[in-house]
Amino acid sequence: MPCGFLNVMVFECLARDGHARRGQMKFPRGTVDTPAFMPVGTYGAVKGLDAADLRMSGSRMVLGNTLHLALRPGIDVISRFGGLHAFIGWEGPILTDSGGFQVMSLGALRTIDEEGVTFRAPVDGRLFRLTPERAIAIQEALGSDVCMVLDHCPPYPASPEEIERSLARSILWAERSRRAHEREEQALFGIVQGGVDIPSRLRAFETLEPMGFSGFAIGGLAVGEPAPARLAILDALKTVLPQDRPRYLMGVGKPADLVTAVLRGIDLFDCVLPTRNGRNAHLFTSQGVLRLRNARYRTDERPIDPDCPCPACQRLSRAYLHHLDRVGDPLTLRLLSLHTLTYYQTLLARLRTAIEAGRLAPVAQEILALEGDGEAVR
Ligand SMILES: [Zn+2]
Repeated sequence: MPCGFLNVMVFECLARDGHARRGQMKFPRGTVDTPAFMPVGTYGAVKGLDAADLRMSGSRMVLGNTLHLALRPGIDVISRFGGLHAFIGWEGPILTDSGGFQVMSLGALRTIDEEGVTFRAPVDGRLFRLTPERAIAIQEALGSDVCMVLDHCPPYPASPEEIERSLARSILWAERSRRAHEREEQALFGIVQGGVDIPSRLRAFETLEPMGFSGFAIGGLAVGEPAPARLAILDALKTVLPQDRPRYLMGVGKPADLVTAVLRGIDLFDCVLPTRNGRNAHLFTSQGVLRLRNARYRTDERPIDPDCPCPACQRLSRAYLHHLDRVGDPLTLRLLSLHTLTYYQTLLARLRTAIEAGRLAPVAQEILALEGDGEAVR
């Protein structure tokens, strides 16, 4: 263990600016400066990037999808390696989700009962059963540094009855997940559900609070709800979530979404967006969005973003990358994902520095002014 004295996650808040927090999550496998962004390695890889690329981008913690990994390659394979870190060659901290969100998105392919969820695996039609106990057992076998309780994420929009039903189930499953969880060196986070209904969200937190989780996630957002509804939930929770534990907003989002959530006290994020957008040549830059497939870049000698430290921006022109994308070279996938992820990590580092300096408001304003999907780069 690199830090001999540390065998569990420790969260420390180093500075505050309004509701925003600048902190550190310390694990035996390394320290993660917060607010932090985790790239998503669904099947144990962030598409197109290896561990060295992830480090170079500034990423210090990654997310693995429990359900995907349980289906392919299967826990028996990963267990042979002693867990996910050794299997994928990533030495830093890993957070695994519980599979709850993925199962719910299977729609008609799954049936939910009070005990758990049964579904047919989309890959081979195999029948698979996920219960709170099974979700924890799989994550313990994966050996992640943070694992999540199994939850029931209601769809959006959902009726008050649907929200109520899924919330009651999420709370029951949180309690069962906690009882099933045995690996003390692995942190366990509770998930606050409740749709876009503020009283339900507050009640969810109040019920989860005494269960003794090491951190709290806010789940069930970024599922199609309007931004003001999402911000209202974060506003309602920012003063009640405990100051001494990390707060994780699941599945969010665009750069502007990250900024507005950091302003409301969020410490941890994950999203497929930077790598997915990177692969589609939809690039975030310090001057706004740049759509590299646009013909105007065919002869453009400038880098994608002169302020970006990634290898693509340091060495290559827009024209060359535009060309690589056009001819479908697999190198494009790596370089553009690496650029977008580096942009996210640089953005988070900038927010951390701004919080330390008590200057988050003007810095946030500047970043939010870049918002918009239109071509912004000149
Ligand atoms: Zn770059």
